[in-house]
Amino acid sequence: MIDSHAHLDSKDFNRDLKVVIDRALTAGVGGIVNPATSLNSNKKCLEIARMFRGVVFACAGLDPVYAVKEKSWIEEVADHARRNRKEIVGVGEVGLEYKWMPSSAEEQNENFAFFIRLANELGKPVIVHARNAMTEALEILENENAERVVLHYFSGSRTQAREAVRRGYWVSFATNYCFMGDKKVIKEVPLDRMLVETDSPYSSPRKDEPRNEPANLVMLVNTIAKALGSTPEEVGEATERNAREAFRL
Ligand SMILES: [Zn+2]
Repeated sequence: MIDSHAHLDSKDFNRDLKVVIDRALTAGVGGIVNPATSLNSNKKCLEIARMFRGVVFACAGLDPVYAVKEKSWIEEVADHARRNRKEIVGVGEVGLEYKWMPSSAEEQNENFAFFIRLANELGKPVIVHARNAMTEALEILENENAERVVLHYFSGSRTQAREAVRRGYWVSFATNYCFMGDKKVIKEVPLDRMLVETDSPYSSPRKDEPRNEPANLVMLVNTIAKALGSTPEEVGEATERNAREAFRL
């Protein structure tokens, strides 16, 4: 299994990162993709990937909120991505955050387009965050001819899931599906386009532990297998294959 999206650089993991990664490996999670959010996060996730080579993979990106609040970081992140293009496996996370910052939608759209062009330039997948903005995200991805696309924390409709699959995007489901979410959406995505993620430290599927971690991916894989009438082994293997193809791991 591969966790296609976990923020191991979060300060929530400062204390016990190695233990968390060991628990993931023991649970059968053999790879973890770490998207970047802030400028500092870009450096930190590269450091972590170097510490856990072959297990943790770094991305270069800028959360849409930071991209609006700290405009100078956009070019700095682009430079960082170009400089480290051999080591990073994706451009993300980037995208649209209409829920918390609806007033800056237009500026966010421009920033998102910038990062899609960067991903195309580097031949990397763009890892898309789209909250309350799936329609606009799909439109911008099409306009910018995004070549390799991972829709992170997919929360779109069944129609949007079908459209994403039609375009050859990878659709990533997060651990929130263990306790909520329309399971019918999962059925719209064939196993060969599906990714799984925890979005750690967020979206914990466990009531007893508010901090999420990659080992909990097992719970999501079980949930998806049940929704599809498949087995956890089949879902785990297919999504791992897809992650290796999407991020060229
Ligand atoms: Zn994220």
